Amino acid sequence: MKIKKVGVVGAGQMGGGITHVCALAGYPVVLSDITRDKIEKALATINGNLSRQIASGKISEADREAALDRVQIASGYEDLGDADLVIEAVVENEQVKREIYAQLCPAMKPSAILGTNTSSISITRLAAATDRPEKFMGIHFMNPVPLMELVELIRGIATSTETFDTAREFVDSLGKISAVAEDFPAFMVNRILMPMINEAIYTLYEGVGTVEMIDTAMKLGAHHPMGPLELADFVGLDTCLSIMQVLYEGLADSKYRPCPLLVKYVEAGWLGRKTGRGFYDYRGEKPVPTR
Ligand code: NAD
Repeated sequence: MKIKKVGVVGAGQMGGGITHVCALAGYPVVLSDITRDKIEKALATINGNLSRQIASGKISEADREAALDRVQIASGYEDLGDADLVIEAVVENEQVKREIYAQLCPAMKPSAILGTNTSSISITRLAAATDRPEKFMGIHFMNPVPLMELVELIRGIATSTETFDTAREFVDSLGKISAVAEDFPAFMVNRILMPMINEAIYTLYEGVGTVEMIDTAMKLGAHHPMGPLELADFVGLDTCLSIMQVLYEGLADSKYRPCPLLVKYVEAGWLGRKTGRGFYDYRGEKPVPTR
């Protein structure tokens, strides 16, 4: 099977990035979210990021225009009816994803593949909430999608070989590298990355270091390009917390317990960059630590 048209559900950080790379690679993309306003915001971000790629000499002005022309705003799931592949990239909440599949699947053509960008939730369990478990799998892009080379591919128990091969070819066509992970909580990248971020938050919570000290320590001491707290803000603290909860519940090991300070930030609605405040406050000219 060949993918000719792509649908994306969820126009947040990830859905916008996925739309960006698919459109730039030549695929017509239909983008859907709860409101038109969210989709338009995503399009503005995509436009800004394409401009950055022009400035760095990676693409031409003609590439930008062609990519933007390929993106269509969906007014309902019926607009995703002729997509060969739909990628779901809505909030990391199993109940929300299930509710979306119940409405989305009847609108998709029977031959279409449904991929989820979930960071941690069981692919097999999500597949069971669809009408097409054999045509369902994890296609996990990294943030920011236009810059990160890796895509994790995760089969559910029922995913067919044809679905898997089609997804792998599709990822190749975007110029990305795929890594195959088994369907266990948080797969590979987040199984390793999130406990590190959670531990950094514990280090802050226990007063071992300040926000700036912890980030500086890991940048200069471990050669990480970003500090763990800066990275947590970039990922979104709600997403970090959801992933830790999936690890904690899915692996039943106390070492994955989410740090109470992470819970507190999420309860305050301080979700990181996307809401203007997290471990840093982004509302001024430069980020200022909030603790
Ligand atoms: P986000 O908060 O930026 O965006 C989520 C989007 O989902 C929002 O635009 C919201 O309006 C939309 N949404 C919520 N309910 C919806 C519904 N019922 N119908 C349609 N849209 C709905 O989140 P994000 O960072 O883009 O994460 C999206 C997914 O990608 C999650 O599963 C997350 O785990 C995964 N992911 C995130 C990262 C990251 O670094 N942020 C990296 C890889 C994967």
